[in-house]
Amino acid sequence: MPYTCFNCGDTFDEIPKGGVIRCPACASKVLFKARDPITREVKAR
Ligand SMILES: [Zn+2]
Repeated sequence: MPYTCFNCGDTFDEIPKGGVIRCPACASKVLFKARDPITREVKAR
């Protein structure tokens, strides 16, 4: 499942083993799922 970084906006689907998901670009832990309904609503507008 793809994720998008809330900090830098980078999208990735790498989920490292261990349960902790970080952005590979900025190492931020603030992420949201790219398939989240909120994202769709933003794109719709
Ligand atoms: Zn990032």
